Amino acid sequence: MTSTLLAKYRPDRNADRDPSSQPVAWYEASSPAACPTDPTARPASAEPKTPARPSASACSGFWSTATFEAWRGGSWVAYSEAHQAALQAALQREDDCTEVMVDSERRHALAALAEMGVCPRSLGAGVESEALSLCARLGDGDSTGNGQVQVNLAALASAADYGEETSPDGKTRVRLRLPPVREGEIRLPAQLDLGSCPSVRDCGRVADAELLQPDSSCGICLGDLMGKRRGLAVALQLHCGHIFHHSCLERWFEERRRCPTCKRRFGHLVGNQPSIGTMSWQLDSHVRLAGHPDSFTIVLNFRFPAGRDSNGEPYRGRTQQAFLPHDERGKLLLALFQLAFRRRVLFDLRASTTEQKYWPAFNIHLKTAVAGGPERFGFPDDGYCQRVLEELRENGVTIAEL
Ligand SMILES: [Zn+2]
Ligand SMILES: [Zn+2]
Repeated sequence: MTSTLLAKYRPDRNADRDPSSQPVAWYEASSPAACPTDPTARPASAEPKTPARPSASACSGFWSTATFEAWRGGSWVAYSEAHQAALQAALQREDDCTEVMVDSERRHALAALAEMGVCPRSLGAGVESEALSLCARLGDGDSTGNGQVQVNLAALASAADYGEETSPDGKTRVRLRLPPVREGEIRLPAQLDLGSCPSVRDCGRVADAELLQPDSSCGICLGDLMGKRRGLAVALQLHCGHIFHHSCLERWFEERRRCPTCKRRFGHLVGNQPSIGTMSWQLDSHVRLAGHPDSFTIVLNFRFPAGRDSNGEPYRGRTQQAFLPHDERGKLLLALFQLAFRRRVLFDLRASTTEQKYWPAFNIHLKTAVAGGPERFGFPDDGYCQRVLEELRENGVTIAEL
């Protein structure tokens, strides 16, 4: 996230009354260039057993505002500064987050197989392997002198759930803490994230006959890579080494900017959401979401004026309100929604089948009601966070990019 976005966070005078969200980090709203890396304010209930982190010299945006805590001796205790950096870096390692995604997809496939009663045991054991987990190893500088500690952050990356620390002492729960949300706004097109979106040709090289096995096939259409059928004869080897038909990849990249085989990312997706619009958010201490009695509520407002799409087709305007709980999951989703909005993938211009109109429809599911459950697009909905994280990942928006 850019510093302009972070500058939208404001210390919330009421936040210390929100039991689910003790303040862990502030920074001066009056100095937008300031780096939000000085969480000197600690919750009164948790005695800091590690020194407060000094102002960091390098500001890496969202994750520099995050704090990781472990459950020790009956209370949550923040990791030391060096360990915080290691844990943040682990969540920002794109390759490993991709691994988590591949792992989660594999688990889905295995679960489906298991339901049909055809899941081989050996395969089940394979997915539990450590290589597929997003882990940070904390060095032997640990104050407890217990040597190396390993923190598994895979659950945090895939479902904003609790991580787990494994040390010679046993297992400890690990959680993520994020600063309170106050209010902010993103205006498009000024804050569009166009980023890098290289052409298919720039993501690899033409695969010549030497590279191609006689019977190798394209992982997208399953057709022969050597054949001249349907004019698909040009094969392209992506930088990851996997080979597909050039024209198959062009169509694939319109939907997702990842290698179909290994999921490596090639630039990011820019969607079809109107390029003119506003997303704003604020913390509301009066609204309570069903199933979240102990949290304040983040209220989001989206406003798209009527306009014309890239083909000159007119579309209707839309004003939409949505809700998130003001807990760590909600705060994480808010940051991801901001990125998705700036990449034009949060909404999608399409014809609504039920309402007979062409307008910005949801591309990522938003909760538009405070109650009523999933059937009414409301809360409570226990699986919402995990589902929406997967939808965001499908659209190339991951926590590694925050
Ligand atoms: Zn193909
Ligand atoms: Zn690949």
